[in-house]
Amino acid sequence: MKADPDAETVVSAPRGADGRARAGSPHGRRGAARETRLKGIPVSPGIAIGAIFDTTEAPAEAPRRSITAAEVEAERQRLAEAVAASRKQVAKLKTRIGVLPEEAQEELSPLLDAYAMMLANSRLIRGARKRIESDLVAAETAVQDEAESIAAAILATRDDDKTGLLRRAQEVREIARRLTRNLTALPFRALKDIPQGAILIAEELTPADAALLNPARIAGVATEEGGADGHTAIMLRALGIPSVLGCHGLTGTARRGDPCVLDGTAGTVALNPSPATLAAARESLAAFARERAKLAKLRRLPAVTTDGEEVELQANLEIPAELPLIAQAGAQGIGLLRTEFLFMNREDLPDEEAQVAAYAEILEAMDGEPVTIRVLDWGGEKDIEALAEGIPALGGPNPALGLRGVRMLLKRPELLEVQFAAILRVAAKGPVRILLPMVTIPAEVKQAREIYERVARRLRRRGERLPDPLPPLGAMIETPGAALAADAIALEADFFAIGTNDLAMYTLAVDRSEAEVAHLYDPLHPAVLRLVQFSTEAALRLRMPVSVCGEMAGNPRLVPLLLGLGIRSLSMNASAIPRAKQAVRSLDIADCARFARRVMEQSDPARIQELVMGFAEGLTERA
Ligand code: PEP
Ligand code: MG
Repeated sequence: MKADPDAETVVSAPRGADGRARAGSPHGRRGAARETRLKGIPVSPGIAIGAIFDTTEAPAEAPRRSITAAEVEAERQRLAEAVAASRKQVAKLKTRIGVLPEEAQEELSPLLDAYAMMLANSRLIRGARKRIESDLVAAETAVQDEAESIAAAILATRDDDKTGLLRRAQEVREIARRLTRNLTALPFRALKDIPQGAILIAEELTPADAALLNPARIAGVATEEGGADGHTAIMLRALGIPSVLGCHGLTGTARRGDPCVLDGTAGTVALNPSPATLAAARESLAAFARERAKLAKLRRLPAVTTDGEEVELQANLEIPAELPLIAQAGAQGIGLLRTEFLFMNREDLPDEEAQVAAYAEILEAMDGEPVTIRVLDWGGEKDIEALAEGIPALGGPNPALGLRGVRMLLKRPELLEVQFAAILRVAAKGPVRILLPMVTIPAEVKQAREIYERVARRLRRRGERLPDPLPPLGAMIETPGAALAADAIALEADFFAIGTNDLAMYTLAVDRSEAEVAHLYDPLHPAVLRLVQFSTEAALRLRMPVSVCGEMAGNPRLVPLLLGLGIRSLSMNASAIPRAKQAVRSLDIADCARFARRVMEQSDPARIQELVMGFAEGLTERA
């Protein structure tokens, strides 16, 4: 699951920090177009062959915009935010250039230092700040005007070193472009114009950006940032777009139009691929299609072990566009409906009617299959503009440890009330369960239940017919605290869904979407497995339903271990269901239990990985 994020070979022309070939570079444009192979984290399987579409390319000049005096402070704030974002990006680029050839490093390092200086209290920033007020213009207009004025002054200097002057002027314009891009940053909303079959590259893609991608147009995605189980990765898997994240050196090497082969299974990006790489990729594409056709045949077969134990295989849903895929995959319902999609890419909050319509559509599409709806889980990387304003603490210094999930909902109970009411109003359309995210103490479930029952009473008074008893209210177990207190939380909750993505992140203190520490993110770490085991046993002792709905559940190699730990319900990306079913149908529960006992005796994650791979290979050989 992990990959060495270093570049294997990097044969590229030195570029500006934005990835454009530098003027006067000895390598010039595209050079000899030798194949360049970069490695990253494989997050969404499949092969893509296409041309690079580089979103890191600076936009054409942002349109000039005037403002009123009342808007000056807000524009200055926007400028300050864009400066901070640019500074962070340049600092990151600086840590990344180590993967480039020495020659390129020597060229880029002083350039990035110059950029960093220009983003401190420089003439450019001071001048732009001033212009916002004196010229009453928007931040991007002020930046562009100030940069042009500085560049013109540099070029008018009397100096024989004309190349040097030109270079300095270029640097000012370059940093102005970065600031402008950060100020006008809506590039992904314009992605409808992306050429058909392109491979999209970017420094970073947020989950909200990813939700806007059209899998029918985009053949593949690669980014510098990101980790295997971050929400962006989850979204890309959900859309079925072959993707490689955490691909260091990418934006400094690839450029728009470059031919590319992206392998989302191996985690590689080959730029200017050789004829041999292309031929191999075409062969893999065909093999992938054959495998998919084979797996599709499993759709109607039950998920039952060789000794007759039934296992529930459900789908996770992040956006309604996935519904047809869920039907094709033969899922037994939705085990995790992440409702964040309803709140993304909009400036206001969805009201009760809008939510009723969205949930009703999903329940109707599921045609009587159970659906577990998780109430809003606002987290650090899930950027919800409409909420950021109302709750400034959300953005705080450490959002993952801040007002996330149920904590935020209890702070803003009106959000929870609207969501509960909308879910209750559609509950007659099919079996529904409601799930609370990021629970850490039993009192959170208790308080949420009080609100839930209050909302139900209000709806009944209004004449709404609600199921009796009300749909079950469950808790995500996704922090070590919740896992270790699972027996106490079990007394308040009706069911558990174990979220191994956050559980691994919080247990190992590793950001699941951070490429730099991706090598440490390991759901097979014994600490994570012990917490899964502990919370599963707490639920089973009370005969309470428990499922695993983190990305672990969708890895067929981990199915024997999870079954061996007592789990009988798994919820995963729809496209993972056929392989998980294949695994279930080849397993014997007693074997799984023995195997799990052996794994749980280990303390070394590498040894556990070895055991898991060995068990899976044994199964393949027997199949
Ligand atoms: C998890 O944390 O494992 C989970 C399923 O929730 P999410 O990925 O949406 O945070
Ligand atoms: Mg989670």
